[in-house]
Amino acid sequence: MGRPCFIASLRGSSMTVSIWQADDTQPLREVDFLVVGAGLVGCAVAYFAAQAGRQVTITEMRDVALGASSRNAGFMITGLDTYYHRAIERYGHETTRELWQLSAQTHAFWRRIAAGTDVRMTQCGSLLLAESAEEARDLELAARAMQADGLEVEFHSTDPLRRGYFAAIEQPWDGAVQPYELVQQLYKASGAELVANNELYAIRQERPDVVTVYTRQYRFEARHVMLCTNAYSVHIDPYFIGRVIPTRAQCLVTAPLKDPSILNTCGYSDYGFMYYRTTFDGRLLIGGGRKQNKPLEHDTTDDRVTDPVQRVLDAYLRAKFPDVEEPVERRWAGIMGFTPDGLPLVGTLPGKPNVGFAVGFNGHGLALGAGVAERAVDMLLNRADPGVLRASRLD
Ligand SMILES: Cc1cc2nc3c(=O)[nH]c(=O)nc-3n(C[C@H](O)[C@H](O)[C@H](O)COP(=O)(O)OP(=O)(O)OC[C@H]3O[C@@H](n4cnc5c(N)ncnc54)[C@H](O)[C@@H]3O)c2cc1C
Repeated sequence: MGRPCFIASLRGSSMTVSIWQADDTQPLREVDFLVVGAGLVGCAVAYFAAQAGRQVTITEMRDVALGASSRNAGFMITGLDTYYHRAIERYGHETTRELWQLSAQTHAFWRRIAAGTDVRMTQCGSLLLAESAEEARDLELAARAMQADGLEVEFHSTDPLRRGYFAAIEQPWDGAVQPYELVQQLYKASGAELVANNELYAIRQERPDVVTVYTRQYRFEARHVMLCTNAYSVHIDPYFIGRVIPTRAQCLVTAPLKDPSILNTCGYSDYGFMYYRTTFDGRLLIGGGRKQNKPLEHDTTDDRVTDPVQRVLDAYLRAKFPDVEEPVERRWAGIMGFTPDGLPLVGTLPGKPNVGFAVGFNGHGLALGAGVAERAVDMLLNRADPGVLRASRLD
C-alpha cells in the first residue's frame, strides 16, 4: 500500500518540514490528548485536560513558551483590546460582561499558578491613559460604563503620571508578571509530557475517534487534539486563513534605571497601541509602534524587529520619559494572532470533530488565555458550547 504523502499548498500547510526530515514513516505513538503548541494557552489547555482526567502530551516546534508567550510585555490588564463602552457597542452588553468575567477568571488562575512559587508577579494596578482630548472623552465614557456595571475603576480627569497624558482610568486590581516564568510554571503544574523541537506538518481524521498527527519525530494517533498555535495556525490548516491574522508586536527595554520608581504601574495608551512598565529588575519597557506601521507588521510570522517600529519606540521613550537617561539594552518582537472581530476563536476543524482549537488572542493572551483554554477543553471533551468564543460566528 502506498504511504500517504501530503501535497503542501502555499498556505495552510507548513513548508518547513522537508521530506528528508520526515517522510511519513516516523514511529507511531498512541496518545490520549495531544496539545499542539506549548505557549501559555497550550500549557493552560494541558492543565485543564489533565484536571479532566486525560493523559496529556504536548508537541511543540520550539520549546516551552518560545512563541509570543515569552515575548510579551507581561501585562495582566483585565479586559479586551477595546475600551469598555466600545466593547458594549461592538459585542453587546451581556457579551462584554461575560468577556470581562473571563478575563478576571484568567487572572485569578495565573495568580493561583504563581502562588507559592518563584514566578515574579505584582499587583501594581494599571492606567489606561489618553494621548489626546478625544481619547480622554472616550476614557471617561468607558469609566462611566464600567462603574455602571459595578467595576470600581477610578477616572482621573488629569494625568496622574504628569507626562503629558490627558486623562486616565485606574484599575487597581491589575498586575504584571514575568511571562516566561509563568508559562514554565504552568507547564510544570500541568504534569503533561512535552515533545519539544517537534513541528506538526499535517493532521488527518479518518476514523471517528482517532486523529493522526504528523510531526517531525512521530506520527501521533490521538483521541483528541487541541491546536494552540495562535498566530501560526494559518500554516497548519487553510481554515484559519482570514480568521487568524499573524501580526507582529515589538518592545524595547532600557538598562536598569537609577530610579525604577519612575513608573509603578502598567501604562497603556493611544487605544492600546503604546504600553510601558518597569520590569522586575528595574528597566523601563516600552512596546507598541504598530499603528504607524500597520502594513509592515501585518500578516507576517517573522519575529525579528524592524527599524521603523523601533524608531517609534525610541521617539516615545524620549518624548514621554525624558528623565530616563539609561540606554536601550534589548529589543525584540513576537507574533500575535488577530481575528477579524477582535475575539478569540474556539471550535473544531471542519471535517475533523476531534481536532479543537483555541486561537486568536488579539494581543491579550494574558488577559483571556486561561478562561478560553478551559472552555476549549470543555468543548472538545464534553461538546460544551463555547458561547461567545464559538468560531462559527465568523462563517
Ligand atoms: C511584543 C508583545 C507584547 C505583548 N504584550 C502582552 C501583554 O502585555 N499582555 C497580554 O495579555 N498579551 C500580550 N501579548 C500577547 C500574548 O503574548 C499572546 O496573546 C499569548 O502569548 C498567546 O499565547 P499562545 O499560547 O496562544 O501563543 P504562542 O505563545 O505564540 O504559542 C504558540 C506556540 O505554538 C507553537 N507552534 C506553532 N506552530 C507549530 C507547529 N506546526 N508545530 C508545533 N508547534 C507549533 C509555537 O512555537 C508557539 O510556541 C503580547 C505579544 C507580543 C508579541
